[in-house]
Amino acid sequence: MEIRPIIVVHGGAWNIPPEEHPPHIEGCRRAALRGWEVLVSGGSALDAVEAAVRLMEDDPTFDAGKGSCLNAVGEVELDAIVMDGETLRMGAVAAVRRVANPVSLARLLMEKGPHTFLVGSGAEEYARYHGFPLIDPRELIVDRERERWEAWRNGQGMYATNLFGPQGTVGAVALDLRGNLAAATSTGGRPGKWPGRVGDSPLVGCGAYADNMTAAASATGDGEALMRIVATKSACDLVGQGVHPQEAARRVLALLEARTGGYGGLILLDREGRVGIAHTTPHMAWAMVRDGVVQAGI
Ligand code: ASP
Repeated sequence: MEIRPIIVVHGGAWNIPPEEHPPHIEGCRRAALRGWEVLVSGGSALDAVEAAVRLMEDDPTFDAGKGSCLNAVGEVELDAIVMDGETLRMGAVAAVRRVANPVSLARLLMEKGPHTFLVGSGAEEYARYHGFPLIDPRELIVDRERERWEAWRNGQGMYATNLFGPQGTVGAVALDLRGNLAAATSTGGRPGKWPGRVGDSPLVGCGAYADNMTAAASATGDGEALMRIVATKSACDLVGQGVHPQEAARRVLALLEARTGGYGGLILLDREGRVGIAHTTPHMAWAMVRDGVVQAGI
C-alpha cells in the first residue's frame, strides 16, 4: 500500500485574541510546509517534526523558544520533547534557559543518550559537552512578553496564570514515506510560573507520544491538568483500540474537563493518515499538509 506522508502542527490552545489570529495561522502554515518538504524529500517523521517545531520556536508569535512567556522572576524557561514511533525512543529537556531550540536538544539527547530526560543546568551542560549552541537567555525575551510581565507584576494585565491566558505551546505529528510516526512538543510553559515549574509538555505520554502501533499525538493547554490524565498516551491508546483519531482527541479532552476541570487541545495522527484535531479552549491554531495541500485553522 502506498503511504501518503502527512504532517499536522499546532500553535497552542488558548483564547487567542483576533488580532493575533493571522500570525498564528501563518506561523502554523509555514511550519507544516517546512515539515512537508522534509517528508517529500524522503526525510523521516522525526526530522519533519523537529524541523517544523524549530521553525515555530524561532517564530516569536508562539510560546516556545524566542517569544516565550516569562516566569515569575522574569526569565524564560523552556521544555521540549521528541519521540520516535518506530522505536519508542524519546528525548526530553525541561527548564532550560540558554537554548534557542530545545526540541533539537531533546533530539540530541534521544540520539546520543544515555538518558532520556534532563533538566535545567544539567541539560545545558549536556548541550555544552556535545557542542550544541548555548545562547544568552535574554535573546529569547521579546518586548511583548516583557511588557505583559511588567503589567502582571504591577497587578494588572492578562499575564495571570489563568487557563485562557496568553499561551501558545507548539507541537507536531508526522507520518513519513516509510510509514513511521513521530511527535514533538515545545513550550515556554505558563506565564508567571514558579521557577522550576514543569508542565505536561516534556513529559512522555502527557505533552507528546508516538507509537507506530497506535498513533502520534501532541497536546497543549492546562499542563497541570493534562499530565494527570496522561493525555497523549491516553489518546494514542484509544486509537489502538480502534477509535478514530478525531473521536479519540474529543474523548480525551472531555475526560480532561470531567476529571480535572482543565482545558486544552490535541493533534493526533495514525499510520493510515487519519487525523484528529480538537480543542476545548476558545481557539487552537493548527495546520496540516497532505498531498501537498495545506489546510489551517484556529
Ligand atoms: N501545556 C503547556 C504547559 O502547561 C502550556 C500550553 O500548552 O500552552 O506548559
